[in-house]
Amino acid sequence: MLELTHLKVFHGPIEAVHGISITVQRGQCVSLLGPNGAGKTSTISAIAGIADYQGSIRFQGADLAAISVEDRQRAGIALAPEGRRIFSNLTVKENLLIGAATRHDRRAVRSDINHWFESFPVLGERRDQSAGTLSGGEQQMLTIARALMSKPQILLLDEPSLGLAPLICQQVFRLIKELKSSGMTILLVEQNVRDALDLADYVYLLNSGHISNEGDHNVFGNDANLMAELTGIH
Ligand code: ATP
Repeated sequence: MLELTHLKVFHGPIEAVHGISITVQRGQCVSLLGPNGAGKTSTISAIAGIADYQGSIRFQGADLAAISVEDRQRAGIALAPEGRRIFSNLTVKENLLIGAATRHDRRAVRSDINHWFESFPVLGERRDQSAGTLSGGEQQMLTIARALMSKPQILLLDEPSLGLAPLICQQVFRLIKELKSSGMTILLVEQNVRDALDLADYVYLLNSGHISNEGDHNVFGNDANLMAELTGIH
Protein backbone atom coordinates (compact mmCIF):
# COMPACT_ATOMS: atom_id res chain seq x y z
CA MET A 1 0.00 0.00 0.00
CA LEU A 2 2.84 2.38 0.92
CA GLU A 3 6.31 1.94 -0.47
CA LEU A 4 9.30 4.14 0.27
CA THR A 5 12.31 3.42 -1.95
CA HIS A 6 15.78 4.89 -1.37
CA LEU A 7 14.16 7.78 0.48
CA LYS A 8 16.35 10.74 1.41
CA VAL A 9 14.76 13.55 3.42
CA PHE A 10 16.12 17.08 3.58
CA HIS A 11 15.71 20.05 5.89
CA GLY A 12 17.28 22.78 3.76
CA PRO A 13 20.85 21.65 3.18
CA ILE A 14 20.70 18.97 5.90
CA GLU A 15 20.09 15.38 4.79
CA ALA A 16 18.28 13.78 7.74
CA VAL A 17 17.42 10.42 6.14
CA HIS A 18 19.92 8.68 3.90
CA GLY A 19 18.14 6.42 1.43
CA ILE A 20 15.82 4.11 3.37
CA SER A 21 13.28 1.64 1.98
CA ILE A 22 10.11 0.79 3.88
CA THR A 23 6.96 -1.12 2.92
CA VAL A 24 3.58 -1.00 4.63
CA GLN A 25 0.94 -3.50 3.49
CA ARG A 26 -2.79 -2.80 3.77
CA GLY A 27 -4.09 -3.57 7.27
CA GLN A 28 -0.61 -3.76 8.79
CA CYS A 29 0.72 -1.79 11.73
CA VAL A 30 4.34 -1.02 10.93
CA SER A 31 6.47 0.61 13.58
CA LEU A 32 9.42 2.88 13.02
CA LEU A 33 11.60 2.86 16.13
CA GLY A 34 14.80 4.68 16.94
CA PRO A 35 16.47 7.21 19.21
CA ASN A 36 16.05 10.99 19.15
CA GLY A 37 17.24 12.51 15.91
CA ALA A 38 17.20 9.19 14.01
CA GLY A 39 14.98 10.62 11.27
CA LYS A 40 11.58 9.17 12.19
CA THR A 41 9.63 12.44 12.06
CA SER A 42 11.49 13.43 8.88
CA THR A 43 10.37 10.18 7.23
CA ILE A 44 6.75 10.58 8.23
CA SER A 45 6.81 14.27 7.20
CA ALA A 46 8.04 13.32 3.72
CA ILE A 47 5.13 10.88 3.35
CA ALA A 48 2.68 13.60 4.39
CA GLY A 49 4.30 15.97 1.89
CA ILE A 50 5.63 18.50 4.40
CA ALA A 51 9.36 17.76 3.99
CA ASP A 52 11.55 17.74 0.87
CA TYR A 53 12.75 14.36 -0.29
CA GLN A 54 14.44 12.35 -3.03
CA GLY A 55 13.77 8.75 -3.92
CA SER A 56 10.23 7.55 -4.30
CA ILE A 57 7.11 7.37 -2.18
CA ARG A 58 4.38 5.28 -3.77
CA PHE A 59 0.91 5.04 -2.28
CA GLN A 60 -1.61 2.57 -3.67
CA GLY A 61 0.62 2.26 -6.73
CA ALA A 62 0.89 5.99 -7.49
CA ASP A 63 4.06 8.05 -7.15
CA LEU A 64 3.44 10.99 -4.79
CA ALA A 65 6.31 13.16 -6.06
CA ALA A 66 4.10 15.85 -7.62
CA ILE A 67 1.19 15.51 -5.18
CA SER A 68 0.43 18.37 -2.76
CA VAL A 69 -0.18 17.95 0.98
CA GLU A 70 -3.95 18.40 0.47
CA ASP A 71 -4.10 15.91 -2.38
CA ARG A 72 -2.17 13.37 -0.29
CA GLN A 73 -4.89 13.82 2.34
CA ARG A 74 -7.57 13.37 -0.32
CA ALA A 75 -5.77 10.23 -1.49
CA GLY A 76 -6.13 8.81 2.04
CA ILE A 77 -2.98 9.74 3.97
CA ALA A 78 -3.55 11.26 7.42
CA LEU A 79 -0.92 12.50 9.84
CA ALA A 80 -1.39 12.75 13.60
CA PRO A 81 1.67 14.91 14.30
CA GLU A 82 4.10 14.79 17.19
CA GLY A 83 3.49 17.14 20.09
CA ARG A 84 -0.32 17.19 19.97
CA ARG A 85 -0.53 20.04 17.47
CA ILE A 86 -4.16 20.88 17.97
CA PHE A 87 -5.60 24.30 17.23
CA SER A 88 -5.77 25.35 20.86
CA ASN A 89 -7.91 28.48 20.33
CA LEU A 90 -10.54 26.60 18.34
CA THR A 91 -13.14 24.42 20.00
CA VAL A 92 -12.89 20.65 20.15
CA LYS A 93 -15.62 20.38 17.52
CA GLU A 94 -13.93 22.90 15.21
CA ASN A 95 -10.70 20.88 15.44
CA LEU A 96 -12.57 17.79 14.28
CA LEU A 97 -14.23 19.75 11.45
CA ILE A 98 -10.80 20.88 10.23
CA GLY A 99 -9.80 17.23 10.03
CA ALA A 100 -12.74 16.69 7.70
CA ALA A 101 -11.93 19.67 5.45
CA THR A 102 -11.27 17.45 2.41
CA ARG A 103 -14.68 15.73 2.71
CA HIS A 104 -17.99 16.82 1.17
CA ASP A 105 -20.35 14.36 2.87
CA ARG A 106 -21.44 16.80 5.58
CA ARG A 107 -24.04 14.50 7.11
CA ALA A 108 -21.52 11.67 7.49
CA VAL A 109 -19.03 14.17 8.95
CA ARG A 110 -21.58 15.14 11.62
CA SER A 111 -22.23 11.50 12.39
CA ASP A 112 -18.46 10.77 12.64
CA ILE A 113 -18.04 13.69 15.03
CA ASN A 114 -20.84 12.31 17.17
CA HIS A 115 -19.14 8.93 17.08
CA TRP A 116 -15.99 10.47 18.59
CA PHE A 117 -18.05 12.31 21.21
CA GLU A 118 -19.64 9.00 22.20
CA SER A 119 -16.34 7.07 22.18
CA PHE A 120 -14.60 9.77 24.22
CA PRO A 121 -17.26 11.46 26.34
CA VAL A 122 -14.71 13.95 27.64
CA LEU A 123 -14.39 15.33 24.10
CA GLY A 124 -18.19 15.43 23.81
CA GLU A 125 -18.60 17.23 27.12
CA ARG A 126 -16.04 19.82 26.00
CA ARG A 127 -17.14 20.06 22.38
CA ASP A 128 -17.65 23.84 22.55
CA GLN A 129 -14.63 24.59 24.71
CA SER A 130 -11.30 25.65 23.30
CA ALA A 131 -9.14 22.59 22.71
CA GLY A 132 -6.28 24.20 24.61
CA THR A 133 -8.17 23.55 27.86
CA LEU A 134 -7.94 19.75 27.38
CA SER A 135 -5.36 17.71 29.28
CA GLY A 136 -2.34 16.31 27.41
CA GLY A 137 -3.94 12.88 26.99
CA GLU A 138 -7.23 14.36 25.82
CA GLN A 139 -5.36 16.52 23.32
CA GLN A 140 -3.61 13.40 22.02
CA MET A 141 -6.97 11.67 21.56
CA LEU A 142 -8.19 14.77 19.72
CA THR A 143 -5.09 14.78 17.48
CA ILE A 144 -5.77 11.17 16.47
CA ALA A 145 -9.52 11.74 16.09
CA ARG A 146 -8.87 14.82 13.93
CA ALA A 147 -6.55 12.81 11.65
CA LEU A 148 -9.19 10.08 11.36
CA MET A 149 -11.90 12.60 10.42
CA SER A 150 -10.46 12.63 6.88
CA LYS A 151 -11.43 8.92 6.61
CA PRO A 152 -7.87 7.91 5.73
CA GLN A 153 -6.57 4.71 4.18
CA ILE A 154 -3.39 5.00 6.25
CA LEU A 155 -2.74 6.74 9.56
CA LEU A 156 0.72 8.14 10.25
CA LEU A 157 1.15 8.41 14.01
CA ASP A 158 4.13 10.39 15.26
CA GLU A 159 5.03 9.53 18.87
CA PRO A 160 1.48 9.46 20.23
CA SER A 161 2.68 8.56 23.74
CA LEU A 162 5.25 11.34 24.05
CA GLY A 163 5.00 13.22 27.35
CA LEU A 164 1.94 11.34 28.59
CA ALA A 165 1.56 9.75 32.03
CA PRO A 166 1.72 5.90 31.92
CA LEU A 167 -2.01 5.44 32.52
CA ILE A 168 -2.94 7.89 29.74
CA CYS A 169 -0.37 6.21 27.47
CA GLN A 170 -2.22 2.94 27.93
CA GLN A 171 -5.48 4.62 26.87
CA VAL A 172 -3.83 5.97 23.74
CA PHE A 173 -2.35 2.56 22.90
CA ARG A 174 -5.75 0.96 23.52
CA LEU A 175 -7.23 3.33 20.94
CA ILE A 176 -4.48 2.47 18.45
CA LYS A 177 -5.08 -1.24 19.09
CA GLU A 178 -8.81 -0.77 18.38
CA LEU A 179 -7.99 1.08 15.17
CA LYS A 180 -5.72 -1.75 14.11
CA SER A 181 -8.42 -4.33 14.89
CA SER A 182 -10.85 -2.34 12.76
CA GLY A 183 -8.48 -2.84 9.80
CA MET A 184 -6.78 0.57 9.72
CA THR A 185 -3.30 0.61 8.18
CA ILE A 186 -0.91 2.34 10.56
CA LEU A 187 2.67 3.60 10.42
CA LEU A 188 3.62 4.20 14.04
CA VAL A 189 6.65 6.21 15.11
CA GLU A 190 7.46 5.54 18.74
CA GLN A 191 10.11 5.63 21.41
CA ASN A 192 7.93 3.57 23.72
CA VAL A 193 9.47 0.35 22.43
CA ARG A 194 7.50 -2.30 24.31
CA ASP A 195 4.08 -0.90 23.47
CA ALA A 196 5.10 -0.31 19.86
CA LEU A 197 6.38 -3.91 19.54
CA ASP A 198 3.15 -5.14 21.07
CA LEU A 199 1.16 -3.44 18.31
CA ALA A 200 3.44 -3.82 15.33
CA ASP A 201 3.34 -6.53 12.67
CA TYR A 202 6.69 -5.41 11.33
CA VAL A 203 9.38 -3.15 12.75
CA TYR A 204 12.08 -0.94 11.26
CA LEU A 205 14.84 0.37 13.48
CA LEU A 206 16.20 3.72 12.34
CA ASN A 207 19.56 5.02 13.47
CA SER A 208 21.20 8.24 12.21
CA GLY A 209 19.05 8.25 9.08
CA HIS A 210 19.74 4.60 8.17
CA ILE A 211 17.74 1.44 8.80
CA SER A 212 19.96 -0.56 11.13
CA ASN A 213 17.57 -3.48 11.58
CA GLU A 214 14.16 -4.66 10.51
CA GLY A 215 11.96 -7.67 11.06
CA ASP A 216 8.86 -9.26 12.41
CA HIS A 217 7.96 -7.94 15.87
CA ASN A 218 8.69 -11.39 17.37
CA VAL A 219 12.25 -11.20 16.10
CA PHE A 220 12.72 -7.93 17.96
CA GLY A 221 10.86 -8.97 21.10
CA ASN A 222 12.86 -12.20 21.47
CA ASP A 223 16.29 -10.76 20.79
CA ALA A 224 17.66 -9.68 24.16
CA ASN A 225 20.60 -7.74 22.69
CA LEU A 226 18.33 -5.86 20.31
CA MET A 227 15.84 -5.11 23.07
CA ALA A 228 18.67 -3.80 25.23
CA GLU A 229 19.80 -1.59 22.37
CA LEU A 230 16.25 -0.35 21.83
CA THR A 231 15.24 0.23 25.42
CA GLY A 232 18.60 1.13 26.91
CA ILE A 233 17.89 -1.42 29.67
CA HIS A 234 20.71 -3.99 29.90
P1 ATP B 1 12.75 12.79 17.69
O1 ATP B 1 12.32 11.53 18.31
O2 ATP B 1 13.67 13.58 18.57
O3 ATP B 1 11.65 13.60 17.10
P2 ATP B 1 13.38 11.79 15.05
O4 ATP B 1 13.89 10.40 14.92
O5 ATP B 1 11.96 12.03 14.74
O6 ATP B 1 13.73 12.34 16.50
P3 ATP B 1 13.92 13.90 13.19
O7 ATP B 1 13.09 14.89 13.94
O8 ATP B 1 13.42 13.36 11.92
O9 ATP B 1 14.31 12.69 14.14
O10 ATP B 1 15.35 14.54 12.96
C1 ATP B 1 16.37 13.93 12.15
C2 ATP B 1 17.52 14.89 11.96
O11 ATP B 1 17.08 16.00 11.19
C3 ATP B 1 18.06 15.47 13.27
O12 ATP B 1 19.45 15.57 13.17
C4 ATP B 1 17.41 16.84 13.35
O13 ATP B 1 18.24 17.74 14.05
C5 ATP B 1 17.31 17.22 11.89
N1 ATP B 1 16.15 18.11 11.67
C6 ATP B 1 14.85 17.79 11.89
N2 ATP B 1 14.04 18.84 11.56
C7 ATP B 1 14.85 19.83 11.12
C8 ATP B 1 14.65 21.15 10.62
N3 ATP B 1 13.43 21.67 10.51
N4 ATP B 1 15.75 21.87 10.28
C9 ATP B 1 16.99 21.34 10.37
N5 ATP B 1 17.26 20.10 10.81
C10 ATP B 1 16.22 19.34 11.19
